[in-house]
Amino acid sequence: MKIGFIGLGNMGGPMAANLVAAGHEVTGFDLAAPMPEGVTKADTAAEAAKGAEVVITMLPNGKILRAVADEIVPAMDKGALFADCSTVDVESARAVADQAMEAGLLAIDAPVSGGITGAANGTLTFMAGGSEEAFDKVKPLLDIMGQKAVHCGPSGNGQAAKICNNMILGATMIVTCEAFALADKLGLDRQAMFDVVSTSSGYSWTMNAYTPAPGIGATSPADNGYKPGFASELMLKDLRLAMQAAEAADADTPMGEAAMKLYAQFVENEGGEGTDFSAMLPRFEKRGRG
Ligand code: NAD
Repeated sequence: MKIGFIGLGNMGGPMAANLVAAGHEVTGFDLAAPMPEGVTKADTAAEAAKGAEVVITMLPNGKILRAVADEIVPAMDKGALFADCSTVDVESARAVADQAMEAGLLAIDAPVSGGITGAANGTLTFMAGGSEEAFDKVKPLLDIMGQKAVHCGPSGNGQAAKICNNMILGATMIVTCEAFALADKLGLDRQAMFDVVSTSSGYSWTMNAYTPAPGIGATSPADNGYKPGFASELMLKDLRLAMQAAEAADADTPMGEAAMKLYAQFVENEGGEGTDFSAMLPRFEKRGRG
């Protein structure tokens, strides 16, 4: 298949490389990132999109996505598919899908979970929003780049699933870290704490699969000096998207709000930028109640 790929950064680069390895013909455009081997470099986004059956975008945010959409939608052939895999606000996802459909294109939002390792290994999870026809068309490509693709409903629902998942993830990481720091102060051994919680009702993905304490439980960024992994500022981005969506939908999300505020404080005032989102644990270790 002829594929246009726009945004070949930490995630998009390896995703495009996996499409090439599966035999697809990929033309890429990025403002800065180098093209992975086998990807033909285009000089503009429109050039990458022209003549492609599917155009995939993997961009930093909704504003950039909207700007790129203005450029590529008019360049794409009628009936082609615009698949956005970035994590963006639900409103931008729906606006871009409407724009594409009005121009006679198919559209799908398919944000991912699984991070850079999942992108490299082709084991991402995709959560997709769009028509059946769009989902069916993109599914074989999602199956190359990932191990699971869930069709969540109409346009924007992929982003809705993503931000709900990451709101749970952010809040759970915080409470897992504060529990480790509390256990320390109570004189409870971390390994004992892990052994109990990981097999009791407090278990979670953050405790069991991404243990934020070095040397305990699953190997994770904590074992690598809290180098990301999933950076704190990206978690903050997703929590802000969740709160923006909650406000627009008039949903009461006090835990999500608290998590967003704490990550904002951590990233913007406490040097958390550039650390993994599990670096909340060393943050709590240093603090008392005051
Ligand atoms: P990144 O910054 O590494 O890559 C984004 C790329 O987009 C960059 O190479 C940048 O040069 C390019 N770009 C920016 N504006 C552009 C434009 N106008 N035209 C063409 N290229 C442009 O970010 P990433 O980590 O690859 O993340 C991409 C998306 O995936 C984000 O929405 C992020 O939230 C989401 N995501 C990231 C992770 C992760 O672990 N990194 C996990 C899940 C989802």
